[in-house]
Amino acid sequence: MALIVQKYGGTSVGSVERIQAVAQRVYKTVQAGNSLVVVVSAMGKTTDGLVKLANEISPNPNRREMDMLLSTGEQVTIALLSMALQELGQPAISMTGAQVGIVTEAEHSRARILHIETTRLTRHINAGKVVVVAGFQGTSSAGEMEITTLGRGGSDTSAVAIAAALRANFCEIYTDVPGILTTDPRLVAEAQLMDAITCDEMLELASLGAKVLHPRAVEIARNYGVPLVVRSSWTDQPGTWVTSAKPQGRSLINLEIARPVDHVEFDTDQAKVALLRVPDKPGVAARLFGEISRQKVDVDLIIQSVHEGNSNDIAFTVTTPILKRAEAVATAIAPALRNQSNPKFDEAEVMVEHNIAKVSIAGAGMIGRPGVAAKMFATLAEAGVNIQMISTSEVKVSCVVNAAECDRAVLALRTAFEIEAGEQGAGSRGEFLTPNSSLLTPHSPPPVRGVALDLNQARLAIRQLPDRPGMAAKLFGLLAQHNISVDMIIQSQRCRVIDGVPRRDIAFTVSRIDGESAKKMLTQVAAELGWGEVVLDSAIAKVSIVGAGMVGQPGIAAKMFEALAQQQINIQMIATSEIKISCVVAQEQGVKALQAIHAAFELAGSEKFVVPA
Ligand code: ASP
Ligand code: MG
Repeated sequence: MALIVQKYGGTSVGSVERIQAVAQRVYKTVQAGNSLVVVVSAMGKTTDGLVKLANEISPNPNRREMDMLLSTGEQVTIALLSMALQELGQPAISMTGAQVGIVTEAEHSRARILHIETTRLTRHINAGKVVVVAGFQGTSSAGEMEITTLGRGGSDTSAVAIAAALRANFCEIYTDVPGILTTDPRLVAEAQLMDAITCDEMLELASLGAKVLHPRAVEIARNYGVPLVVRSSWTDQPGTWVTSAKPQGRSLINLEIARPVDHVEFDTDQAKVALLRVPDKPGVAARLFGEISRQKVDVDLIIQSVHEGNSNDIAFTVTTPILKRAEAVATAIAPALRNQSNPKFDEAEVMVEHNIAKVSIAGAGMIGRPGVAAKMFATLAEAGVNIQMISTSEVKVSCVVNAAECDRAVLALRTAFEIEAGEQGAGSRGEFLTPNSSLLTPHSPPPVRGVALDLNQARLAIRQLPDRPGMAAKLFGLLAQHNISVDMIIQSQRCRVIDGVPRRDIAFTVSRIDGESAKKMLTQVAAELGWGEVVLDSAIAKVSIVGAGMVGQPGIAAKMFEALAQQQINIQMIATSEIKISCVVAQEQGVKALQAIHAAFELAGSEKFVVPA
């Protein structure tokens, strides 16, 4: 009936009994009339064990030898599973990555897949065999034939790539959880299983879902429109479908895009409203965006940045036709946002900017790759484009620039990131692919699909950075050079002239472990270049909501901020993309924030999930 690729993770094949159980499931699927390729991980914690062995010999083992070692884990599983299938009377054959012809870059320990030979696979499938393939491994091209691995957790990537190459009907990822949950069940007991999620949402939820499904696998599924489902190997429950829009016949050569950026987008139909000097206390963003949503104004980007003293700036963009309404709301509410605690500041000031454009780069390849944002800022600087607003998410960096400079900015970015004009990324809208599309309701996706909490970040702020093209590029270029990945980036709206130079503050988050060294490095640079103080706060939490349904629906941000206000949680930073809103709050309030937001969007379910150890 169908050609299916199934992937079983380490726990699912953790013992002989479990391998036999997997064989039963495979056998049943074949009996139901399907053809099957099965991709497996190493048994249980085998890979960790191998890493430990290597570290007993060398603190810094050679990467080629490391790949040689780690690739053995999966080879044990393929042989055992094939035997188990043969015991059931099911013809099966095991194959290593090299035997299949999974050709990768020569980059040991983190190779990307270039191409997958399908002739041998197809020959065995047509002969009625189940082909059991070692996940996580490949081989560099014909000349060298080096064994490579794809990076930890890479078997998901192998499975989806094989499904794409074979044009399989769908790919099933079997794991020890029932699918993708609305949030971390260890923190929110009412976390609920999702029926479906789009690839784009999944990528934005990387910090929540990456352990269940490797982001690179999601990227391939999206690029090739591979219907994907994450299911428990212990039950027959349907699991969570990870869906994508119908792609446009992408070539199977260079299968895993080497490019960090997939597409460059722009929107010139935007205007910006900023409120300067609003009080830094709980409830302010809730009040502002609550009123905005009551007036049915749909906001696009929102940013809020931190400042010295007791006040914040909040800025948002709207489409030009509703600017008047947005401005009226902001002006009406400004007097109410008077800063009582600090008489030096009077009421909030409203600033409106008509002629702006939003320019974004997007691509799953930027996850964990320092320097992509820096390259964007450097490109804009070289093109002489000043950045007014920056807002980032997991897979997107958006900059607000002068509308007159939009064309120049887009052209420069397309050149820098090697994107052909007219080349479209796989969108988040359109026809969704699952073998059983009645399962899904792509027409009305829920506004918020999941909520994620990241407790491993630190916030850095640099005061009084000169406001001229190239500053962001310089700053984030330096961080990239030191191999420090930056997550959220926010540039303040407020501009102060000091020593005749207009200056702004810029704040961003990094992994907590990078916080101190980033601060040290930047403090030195700041002294040399005349920047202001560098401030580090390691006690922060980032809480995010993600959902494709929030596009064009007013009130989602307001609801999130309101949930935080009710708990008296102060928002330190806000950044958004089309389908994501992230807030930075104090670390000790992170879990409470997560719970409040999860409840506010009615994501809770009655079923409790037991978290596997
Ligand atoms: N065995 C590899 C690991 O533990 C690959 C995988 O399981 O996906 O990272
Ligand atoms: Mg995994």
